[in-house]
Amino acid sequence: MPALYDITPFSLLDYPDEMSCIVWFAGCNMRCVYCHNPAIVTAKGGKDEAELFSFLEKRRGKLTAVVFSGGEATLYAGLIDIARRVREMGFKTKLDTNGSRPEVLKKLLKEKLLDYVAMDYKCPPHLAPGLIGTDKLWPLFQESLGLMIEASAQGEVTFEVRTTVSPDLMDEAALNDIIRDLGEKNYKGTYYIQNVFAHGEKTIGKIDAPSRKVDPALLDQPQGFTLAFRNS
Ligand code: SF4
Repeated sequence: MPALYDITPFSLLDYPDEMSCIVWFAGCNMRCVYCHNPAIVTAKGGKDEAELFSFLEKRRGKLTAVVFSGGEATLYAGLIDIARRVREMGFKTKLDTNGSRPEVLKKLLKEKLLDYVAMDYKCPPHLAPGLIGTDKLWPLFQESLGLMIEASAQGEVTFEVRTTVSPDLMDEAALNDIIRDLGEKNYKGTYYIQNVFAHGEKTIGKIDAPSRKVDPALLDQPQGFTLAFRNS
């Protein structure tokens, strides 16, 4: 059963231009081979909601935002209630998600409980079994992507799409599939490509260190949106 795992009390990196804390949710419905948080993915708990809100009470006026991350935060049954309370306390909210739970996103968007959503576009569907451990979540991810592109076009929420990649596991041709799909869906934000953060024993798939980085010269020109690199 997904649960609260931990709280990072302060970050200037995870929510652009905000002083945020990060709430980590245990449990995930994917098993990305490059995942560098295996402890969170398999954890059963760590903190409870009372601890979270006691922490937030003390941070009123000091922090400006709360980031929900994981693991996969949308698996946590109480996420919507938490987001409601966090907003009532005056904090902005950001959700990091793998996009596999459109029904939760829909509720969060309907109540306008999110200011920022960062969604992982893991890979094209043919690579999903080997890279994220399942090919069952693709239709749900596509639904989430459509929901978020529409919500951001209406100015309801800031939305970013990102892909973590080792070119040994997913090459530029696969990234071009994603670039094409985002263009066809009329995505207007920034698409971030970031190199894997870890390798070896720290990762779920105990992956090898990448032999190279993504070659920008092999990527197609995005149509209607911006392409950017992180930690390249
Ligand atoms: S990287 Fe993959 S397995 Fe790890 S938390 Fe994110 S979605 Fe889950």
